[in-house]
Amino acid sequence: MLSPRFRSNHATDPTSEAHVRVTTAFNKMLSIPGATVASVEFTPEGVVVGLRRRKSRPRCPCGWKATGAYDTSVRRWRHLDLGSTKLLLRAEIRRLHCRRCDRVRTEDVPWARPRARHSRDFEDVVAWLAQRTDKTTITRLLRTSWERVAGIVERVVAGQVDTRRLSGLFADRGRRGQRKGHRYLTVVADHDLAGRVVWAGEGKNAATLEAFYDQLGETGCQQLQAVSMDLGAAFKKATDTKAPQARQCVDPFHLVALANEAINKARRWAWNLERDKARHAAVLAGPKRRGRPPTGSPPPGRDQARWVKHTRWALLKDPAALKPSQLEVLHQLRRSHSVLYRCWQLKEGLRDLYRLADPRDAPAHLDWWLAWACRCRIPSFVTLSKTVRDNRDRILAAIELGLSNSKLEGLNSKIRLINHRGYGHHTAAALIAMIYLCCGGLTIQLPTQR
Ligand SMILES: [Zn+2]
Repeated sequence: MLSPRFRSNHATDPTSEAHVRVTTAFNKMLSIPGATVASVEFTPEGVVVGLRRRKSRPRCPCGWKATGAYDTSVRRWRHLDLGSTKLLLRAEIRRLHCRRCDRVRTEDVPWARPRARHSRDFEDVVAWLAQRTDKTTITRLLRTSWERVAGIVERVVAGQVDTRRLSGLFADRGRRGQRKGHRYLTVVADHDLAGRVVWAGEGKNAATLEAFYDQLGETGCQQLQAVSMDLGAAFKKATDTKAPQARQCVDPFHLVALANEAINKARRWAWNLERDKARHAAVLAGPKRRGRPPTGSPPPGRDQARWVKHTRWALLKDPAALKPSQLEVLHQLRRSHSVLYRCWQLKEGLRDLYRLADPRDAPAHLDWWLAWACRCRIPSFVTLSKTVRDNRDRILAAIELGLSNSKLEGLNSKIRLINHRGYGHHTAAALIAMIYLCCGGLTIQLPTQR
């Protein structure tokens, strides 16, 4: 224990202003709500500040006040560092028998959140940093672990998420979220609030989205005007049952992604086709050789295979963003009447749907594309044309309502960034809390801003 008085250079004169009690100094510096500093102790762990509570009846986190305590124990909370020294708050904390919760609970203290082992100020700094920076920066700066950061974020979000956020919702979207390990999340965002995340849950099936609709309530579901989603059947099914009046749309983002997938499948298919052609030509060209081919001889069709491999980015990228070398690849495909050039035309033809000057031309354009694609004899595009035909109305609805792609793409890359910044999250709940924190429009106030 420190001597209750510490002396500065001028402290030989006991009447000097500098003659301040150490507890008073800490009391002024920390200004802990609802308590005063009773003792200051220097330990190997850091400075331990003992708090004396202002007299009050123990209050349950639910708000109910008890007349007496059930029992009492001592708890410590990590507070913001004092220079390079860790600072811990120590206080007696009571348990009470809450009549409203009908069980024994630990009382609420003004300087920390329920169940927390860090002070409110410390947790707010963690949450503020987690919105802006990566795992290593936070854990090294604050000398804490990522598991603790995840726990803090979950607690802060639970206390901050606006429970009324679902009430004003009228256009929302369900979509298949980011894959993490083998976990999927379903993320619901509001089209009107600049794509702000209003709900997220684990899983990707109809039941996941139904859980959101249940939380939204029957009246909330009836007020939905439009819901946009991916092309899968799961979200459609959930919306059909829970919000049948809402206009369903397919996000352009998902359709373009499917077209790119069809290109990749077509490239593999073309590669196999070229290889078989080369093998067939080799058989026709000479007498059949027995045994293993001589060492160093190229496998049949190797050049073609390599050629197909080089076409990847030329086929996938936006034509406006192509490099000269990639443009040359496209020209060569065109000159050689390659099937891959037709694939590229089909993909761009579908993307043109979203580049039409007049959206009223969209139905005619889509029908023209469907007629072309279903006869193209490229298996992956024939399959794509079937999917597009099944979802024709939902695709056109997105164009008619002018749902833009950019918000969803922005959200998608933001979630990817969150996941990457944390290098994976231990639990789905931790990732969901982080998504709410960063994409849910929460404002975290720093202790210095209050
Ligand atoms: Zn209670």
